[in-house]
Amino acid sequence: MQHFPIFLDLDGRRVVLSGGGEAALAKLRLLLKTTARITVFAPDPAAEIADWAGRGRLTLHRRAMEPGDALCAALVYAADEDAALDARTAHIGRTEGALVNIVDNLSDSAFITPAIVDRDPVTVAIGTEGAAPVLARRIKADLEARLPATLGTLARIGKGFRRMAEALPFGRARRAFWADYYFDAGPRALEAGGEPAVQDSLDALLAQHLAADPAQGRVDFVGAGPGDPDLLTLKARKALDAADVVIHDRLVSAGVLELARREAQLIEAGKHGFGAAVGQHEINALIVEHAQAGAHVVRLKGGDPMIFGRLDEEIEALATHDLPYSIIPGITAAAAASASLGQSLTKRGRNSQIRFLTGHDTRGFADHDWRALAAPGEVAAIYMGKRAARFIQGRLLMHDAAPETPVTVVENASCPDQRVLETTLDRMEPEMERAGLAGPALTFIGLARRRALAALPETAQAQEAL
Ligand code: SAH
Repeated sequence: MQHFPIFLDLDGRRVVLSGGGEAALAKLRLLLKTTARITVFAPDPAAEIADWAGRGRLTLHRRAMEPGDALCAALVYAADEDAALDARTAHIGRTEGALVNIVDNLSDSAFITPAIVDRDPVTVAIGTEGAAPVLARRIKADLEARLPATLGTLARIGKGFRRMAEALPFGRARRAFWADYYFDAGPRALEAGGEPAVQDSLDALLAQHLAADPAQGRVDFVGAGPGDPDLLTLKARKALDAADVVIHDRLVSAGVLELARREAQLIEAGKHGFGAAVGQHEINALIVEHAQAGAHVVRLKGGDPMIFGRLDEEIEALATHDLPYSIIPGITAAAAASASLGQSLTKRGRNSQIRFLTGHDTRGFADHDWRALAAPGEVAAIYMGKRAARFIQGRLLMHDAAPETPVTVVENASCPDQRVLETTLDRMEPEMERAGLAGPALTFIGLARRRALAALPETAQAQEAL
């Protein structure tokens, strides 16, 4: 992030703009939403600018900007749409201590003006660091459609009620009150009786919330999916959005954690490979402790929480303490990995069953029904299988699996750094070793990348293939 978004208090501050054409008009329309003191320098200003000046909304000087004109200005806009003129304006602005923006010149500007969705006092600023104005406009249009026009009114009235709402304890109780106001009681009151009704509804709502029992803590076990935040379920997103505490695995991606409520406490409860038993008791205790304190805990687990996630032990701990919980399933690594191979996990005539195996359990390399797995056409998805690769290979070959059985390893499935290693059972171990797989990897035995996909030109595959 090169440009850090902030909201600048322009109340009563000087903002100076040089220019009188289209670019100047566009910036002035935005600036006139603020309570800044705006001064425009333009020898030949557009009629609209002269009109604003006539109505006292800005000060207009019908001349070019000169040294001394930007003194005490917070911001200076160079909007003459002429490189030489703009450079001159920018020089004056910088020398006199203002932050300077040159319209349509990202690299020489000290700041950029975002696309804005205005529901004053709610303001959404959208920036793409100049990379894609089209994208910013699309996002703006989406938000304009999604945020009701009444949001500003509700927020303005709500802002005046913040002190009153402090009668509720800080945290969940207060948040629940505001959520009720913004998403239920407020819009209903506004529609039924306008602004006075909104005031009344706030009083009634506060009384109702003050009388309510303190909320009980609870836990959502949430599947965080394989890494791509777009693969979260809507329920998972809602839970993240409401969480007080998020206790997450080491595997959960930064993009997913970004979606947690900003005030939520994030706790990493990572377990690393072998010796997985270490820490589970502490994790159980942590979940119980926060839920007992009344928090809405989201226990975020990579992939699907019910696959190799030790979910039952955590549920058991909650049940012992009579704490309520729910489970929100997620997309498991095998599903994401098979999608990236363009292959389904089961196929008529090939395999009518698929096994999910773990490469190791708490005692070391996990044993399985190797004879059944070695049969032709069998498909297995192996989780945590990197270090057990040689063991698995040996066991399968020992039980007469065909050496040319396809083995496909998908590392970081669904993530931008996803890699796919295609090999066969007899070559699997040294090739996996050589690939230096650093991220989580899922190993398929008996499943190859779809041929049509494998036949794509190299460039199309470059980012995912090894
Ligand atoms: N509950 C998880 C699995 C937890 S076990 C799920 O449903 O996906 C951890 C193992 O999952 C890792 O060792 C790896 O084998 C696999 N895994 C998790 N995320 C992965 C990803 N993005 N790509 C490939 N494998 C992944």
